[in-house]
Amino acid sequence: MTGTDVSRIPVAIVGGGPVGLMLALFLDLHGVRSVLFNTEETTRWHPKGSTQNARTMEHYRRLGISGAIRTLGLPADHPTDVVYFTRFGGRELARLKMPSSAETLAARARAARTDQTPEPLHRANQMYVEDFLLAHIRTRPNITLRFGWRVERFADDGAGVTLAALRGRDGARETWRSGYLVGCDGGQGEVRRTLGIRFAGQSLRQPYMGGSMFSTYVKVPALKRDFLRGTAASSTGSSIRNCVRPSPPSMATTNSCSGRARKAMPPRPTTPRSSKPCGGRRSPISPSR
Ligand SMILES: Cc1cc2nc3c(=O)[nH]c(=O)nc-3n(C[C@H](O)[C@H](O)[C@H](O)COP(=O)(O)OP(=O)(O)OC[C@H]3O[C@@H](n4cnc5c(N)ncnc54)[C@H](O)[C@@H]3O)c2cc1C
Repeated sequence: MTGTDVSRIPVAIVGGGPVGLMLALFLDLHGVRSVLFNTEETTRWHPKGSTQNARTMEHYRRLGISGAIRTLGLPADHPTDVVYFTRFGGRELARLKMPSSAETLAARARAARTDQTPEPLHRANQMYVEDFLLAHIRTRPNITLRFGWRVERFADDGAGVTLAALRGRDGARETWRSGYLVGCDGGQGEVRRTLGIRFAGQSLRQPYMGGSMFSTYVKVPALKRDFLRGTAASSTGSSIRNCVRPSPPSMATTNSCSGRARKAMPPRPTTPRSSKPCGGRRSPISPSR
C-alpha cells in the first residue's frame, strides 16, 4: 500500500466495541494518541453483556468514570434478581434474589477494611455502557474517531503498519500509518485471522451458552401497563429484553438486560405492540448472565 496522503498516528485500533473503546481511553490516559476504527457509525443498540464485573469496574475507576457508569442501567433501588418465567407476564417459576446497586454499595460501606472490593459488580447493559464510552471519547482530543469506517487491509513492514480504511456511507478511502495496530475487532475478527493467530483451549461448542443461539430483541413500551402489573419490574415504564434460544435443545434463555437507561437515548425503532416477545407461549424462558 502506498499513497502520498497518509495520516500518521502512534496507534491504530481496529474495532470500537468495549475493548477498543477502553483501549483508546487507556492510551489517552498515558498521553498516547490513537485512531479508532469501527465498521458501524455508532455503538450497537441491542442488549449483550449486562454484568460489569468488579475488575471491569476497577478499569473504569482508573479512568475516573466508574461513578458515571454506576448511573447507567437500572435505578439504584431496583433489584437485579434473576427470574424464570413461563413467558413474559406469565407465571414465575423461580427467583434468584440479587441486590440492587444501592444495596451493593451499602454492603461495601459496611464491609471490614480488610475485606474491601473497591468497585463491586454493577449491572448495566453493554449498549448503554458503550454509548457512554463513545460520548466520553468524543471529549478526548488524543483519540481520533473513525466510526462508520472499515479497515479493509493492513501491512506490517517491521518499522510500522500501513492500513487502508473505507467509509461505508460514501465509499471514501483513507490510508493511515501507525507504529502499532491493535485488533479489537471481536473474537472472529479479521486482524487475528490475517495474522494467523489461533485460539487455544477448549471449543465453546457446548449444549448451554456455546451452542447455536437464536436471539430476539424486543422493546415493549407498554410492558408495564399490559404485562407486569404488580411485579417488581413494573417500576420501569418500558423494558428491553434479549432472548437467547439455543437450537436445539428446546430450552430457551432470556438474557435480562437493564430495563432502561436513566439518561435520554436517541430514538430507535420500536416493536409493534402486537409482537409476541420471545415467540409468545412457545418456550419457557430463563435468564443467562
Ligand atoms: C448475549 C450475550 C451476553 C453477554 N454477557 C456478558 C456479560 O454479562 N458480561 C461480559 O463481560 N460480557 C458479556 N458478553 C460478552 C461481551 O459482549 C463480549 O465479550 C464483548 O462484546 C467483546 O468486546 P470486543 O470489543 O472484543 O468485541 P465486539 O463487541 O465484537 O466489537 C468488535 C467491533 O469491531 C468492529 N469491527 C470488526 N471488524 C472491523 C473492521 N475490519 N474494521 C473496523 N471495525 C471492525 C465490529 O463492528 C464491532 O463493533 C455477552 C455476550 C453476549 C452475546
